[in-house]
Amino acid sequence: MDYVYGPGRNHLFVPGPVNIPEPVLRAMNRNNEDYRSPAVPAMTKTLLEDVKQIFKTTSGTPFMIPTTGTGAWESALTNTLSPGDRIVSFLIGQFSLLWIDQQQRLKFNVDVVESEWGQGANLDVLESKIAEDTAHTIKAICIVHNETATGVTNNLAKVRKILDNYMHPALFLVDGVSSICALDFRMDEWGVDVALTGSQKALSLPTGIGIVCASPKALEASKTAKSVRVFFDWNDYLKFYKLGTYWPYTPSIQLLYGLRTALDLVFEEGLDNVIARHSRLGKATRLAVEAWGLKNCTQSEEWVSDTVTAVLVPPYIDSTEIVKRAWKRYNLSLGLGLNKIAGKVFRIGHLGNLNELQLLGCLAGVEMVLKDVGYPVKLGSGVAAASAYFQNNTPLIPSRI
Ligand code: PLP
Repeated sequence: MDYVYGPGRNHLFVPGPVNIPEPVLRAMNRNNEDYRSPAVPAMTKTLLEDVKQIFKTTSGTPFMIPTTGTGAWESALTNTLSPGDRIVSFLIGQFSLLWIDQQQRLKFNVDVVESEWGQGANLDVLESKIAEDTAHTIKAICIVHNETATGVTNNLAKVRKILDNYMHPALFLVDGVSSICALDFRMDEWGVDVALTGSQKALSLPTGIGIVCASPKALEASKTAKSVRVFFDWNDYLKFYKLGTYWPYTPSIQLLYGLRTALDLVFEEGLDNVIARHSRLGKATRLAVEAWGLKNCTQSEEWVSDTVTAVLVPPYIDSTEIVKRAWKRYNLSLGLGLNKIAGKVFRIGHLGNLNELQLLGCLAGVEMVLKDVGYPVKLGSGVAAASAYFQNNTPLIPSRI
């Protein structure tokens, strides 16, 4: 049996895949259909227009590829760069590590800027590399906006500023997998050239659509980029965009209907309200962690993430036990510590279609598990800190005013 029953709702608090709201589940519950009929292209046209809003772009061109975040990475890289190109990439946690591994396997010349896990991208090092690079050998900067493994959010506006200060033409490629549609993200304003996300994160859909958005400069770069790409070739998509049929191969039709509803929900709440809700969820989680007497893996306030919190546990506790026990005893799913920080942190994902009371349920569960594994937590302490914050700061639900 691949589904292990537990009574009641599973409290799903991994930082993706996240909860799928009922209207989205219902919208996807439909038969296949002919994607060459007028209906699917008509829906695709509006989706391509509307999806730009979550990137905050008017000039970008989106591609809704049947893939995951990893495929979206590959699409971003292979369409804009050639093997041997020098790129600067920041290693700050497991997902940036995996992206760097992909960059190396695709044969780019990767200039890795490493930070301790729990810290953000070292932008001082970036600045010195950009300042020195008067010959413009650096073709792209690759950065994970929100490192899901450590709960670190990087300052993208600052990256843009560095590039602008030195009038450096490097492409700016951003992984927004655990940020776009949850954190403040401004593709046009920050001059991001390729931004990408995956459907199973803040959009609260099943896994299966990688959304990649390319700036005019990135599209221009794709005309000369020599990396081999077939499935991910933007050009194939663009040909079909021109024809008005949109799909070079079979789209995931049910997911497109899900995306339609997911976007409608975001617009009904208002994107800025969605972002503000994530900010409340993040803040409340951090207050709870503090009340438990534990530390956030994120080493400084400037990098704290409003979509995921990685909680450091004392050395006498194995955080893997916390995650196991939460699931076995309380039907609560928390994120494991990954790679270097396995056993040292557990993660609370607070992104997507999620509200304040759901989070309080998770925090209550975490407290009980902490006590189970021998950490002297005062039951209710984190919940009290978070609920006091919510009680003071939660606005009326925008669609119910
Ligand atoms: N980038 C980030 C920041 C992620 O958190 C993840 C997955 O969690 C990925 C990329 C990889 O995405 P996927 O698992 O959809 O391929």
